Amino acid sequence: MKNTLTPVIDLPLPEEPYLPPHDHRPLWEMSPAEFDEFQVTPLSKGADSVWMWERTTPGQPKSVAQVNWAMELFDGSRLTDTRHALRLEWAKKLLALITLAPVGGVAPAAGSMGRYQQGINWLLSWMAQRGMQTPNELDVDAYLEDLPRYISERVDEDEITLSRVQQSLKIIPHLWSERRLLTKWGVPTLHQNPFREHSIFYYATMLATKATGWIPPLPDEVAVPVYNKIAWWLGQPAEDVVALMEYVEDPVAGTEIEVMVGKYKGIRKLKAGYSAPSRRSRNHRFFADFTFGTLPGESKPWHTALDETKEDEKGPHLQSRLLFDAVRDACAMSIQGMSGMRISELMGIEAGFDAVNGLPRGVRIELSVSGLYELFVIRTVLSKTEAGLPREMDWVLGVRPKGSMDEPLPVRALRLLNRLHEPWRRHATTPRLLLAMAGGKFLAVKTKGLPGMSSDKMRDGMKRFIAHWVDLTGLPDESRHKIKDNDLIEWRESKGHVFKTHMLRKSWAQFMFAVDPSLMPAIQLQFHHLSMAMTDSGYIGSNQSLLSDMESVATQARNMMILESVLGINPLAGRMGEELELATRKLAEQVKALPTSDAYKEVVKFCEQAQLPIFFSPHGACMPMKTHEMRCHDESGTSLLLRKQPNTRTRQPSLCAGCSCFVLDTRHADFWASRYLDNWLAYKRAARSGDVSDFKVIKERAEQAGKLLKKIGVKVEQLDIKIEKTLEVEHVPA
Ligand code: SF4
Repeated sequence: MKNTLTPVIDLPLPEEPYLPPHDHRPLWEMSPAEFDEFQVTPLSKGADSVWMWERTTPGQPKSVAQVNWAMELFDGSRLTDTRHALRLEWAKKLLALITLAPVGGVAPAAGSMGRYQQGINWLLSWMAQRGMQTPNELDVDAYLEDLPRYISERVDEDEITLSRVQQSLKIIPHLWSERRLLTKWGVPTLHQNPFREHSIFYYATMLATKATGWIPPLPDEVAVPVYNKIAWWLGQPAEDVVALMEYVEDPVAGTEIEVMVGKYKGIRKLKAGYSAPSRRSRNHRFFADFTFGTLPGESKPWHTALDETKEDEKGPHLQSRLLFDAVRDACAMSIQGMSGMRISELMGIEAGFDAVNGLPRGVRIELSVSGLYELFVIRTVLSKTEAGLPREMDWVLGVRPKGSMDEPLPVRALRLLNRLHEPWRRHATTPRLLLAMAGGKFLAVKTKGLPGMSSDKMRDGMKRFIAHWVDLTGLPDESRHKIKDNDLIEWRESKGHVFKTHMLRKSWAQFMFAVDPSLMPAIQLQFHHLSMAMTDSGYIGSNQSLLSDMESVATQARNMMILESVLGINPLAGRMGEELELATRKLAEQVKALPTSDAYKEVVKFCEQAQLPIFFSPHGACMPMKTHEMRCHDESGTSLLLRKQPNTRTRQPSLCAGCSCFVLDTRHADFWASRYLDNWLAYKRAARSGDVSDFKVIKERAEQAGKLLKKIGVKVEQLDIKIEKTLEVEHVPA
């Protein structure tokens, strides 16, 4: 029979395209048995579980020119499992048409087949999750709407790239373009072109931004122990580990040493040898003598003594590797998590110190605009940019009051990383600070040609740090502010494996709005200073990448605030809070019986439709919906046309508390509780001394704080008891 297939023309490749045998019926007229036996590629038949194409570029990995139909879907099942039989059948038919009878006459290159597999995987995993079997059941709008969340939960990347989103959309246009033959072949498909209004590129660009926005910050319950452990490692433990690395350098080799000869023959001078046994015996002595420090308030060293006689995981070599990794990962997390930089920029930091200022390379000190603070700024170079050109970016590592000698934690981390890698530095083939240490269980003592570490390896190291050193076993099932049910179980059970480095940047942005009081004082101070730097200097304000993270965290926090309000978990206060409660009554009805993740999606939709703007501060949030009633702008007389956001120069808690744009919930309770305490204490002390004439405003502030606290469900009676106790203590006769 004549071959009626459209000829295959593989334009990107110079080689002859694959033309299937001529003695068969058209694909779409084949019986299942015929298709099973049909040579779909020069190397594979229809029934094969892997379709392979001949690779056209030397050195290409096998995977780029094959589709493995036994691919693992996102729920852990295989596409070849019985329950996916129908999905597998039409996916094979679709790919056969795309490669052998494409509607445009141009078949894709063999080297792009791996990408087709990825595209099939994304789409079929999603369809399987929703019980959709055939393309005609596919709700493309729902897929597009869900993609940002879907991708952000599955992709283990710092930022969601355009190509990642394009991959997830890859198959959909074919479901439309190949519709005629698909239908003839018994596959019901899409009824209309999903990309009729906008191109696939338009959707990919929009969804990539949204997907990065969907990556949540670390849940508070995880962030606090992680950050505290990072700060812990940067103290005495890091110093000890740096000292421990001396065994790698083995400085005694080749020097003259004194050894005891026999019992009574005295001491002889010898040259310490370079042989492996000599070195081993020196290392044994070094490990046996090594002592770890004791932390303030503790009675014994923070780490047990190294047992040089052991070779197992308790042995000194394995322990040294573990400790090296811990300090490196803690330092890296401190730099990324406390400056907000991207992992690619972290990996690009160079080793060494500035000969002039003595600071780690790339770091400089700038005076803040007010002249009150010193800012530690590092300039990084991002080699891969959208425009393909290197881009320099400044990141504020920390701030200190002018005249102070303290260095911010990330600066200390840079110093430590330099010292930690010192034994290997001369073997490095890169100027970069973080080196790709040999992959074995031990630290290499003899090595050559160490390249820079990759972002993937760094991310794996950070995950291992959480798994090894941060105890998440006591986590409850759900975080206090959850966007899906049982959100902490995956953290507890995977020991933090769900961590993404971008979460550190999101947590950075979150702590810039309000520092969690359970963080160690050093970290609280770090973020407190950084927040001041943000308003006092242009550095953070001009870093577009950080601003967009702050914006997306603010958007997430707004959505969360509305979610918790409509679910009745967290009441809102403030005049805008009251308006919001009225405006979301219908939404509250709609979502109250839904699982939290679905309720969250509805809330996001509502907030996006209403385009609710929000600006956070420690005392509450501003939603400037009523531009003619913005008190901070009334103060300064700003024109109505220019009132797009709060006026940071005049914005004050007492002004906001009576403003139509103000909303707060329990997240701001700490601020108002301390305002309540401070103002009542001041007023009552004045009352005791018999003169409250100048304290009217103080009393009003205390009363205002009390009202807001009651509205968000805080029991002020407990604060009153605290006030009375403080006053009693102050009046105990000497
Ligand atoms: S006074 Fe406060 S709540 Fe009102 S507009 Fe200004 S910042 Fe927003």
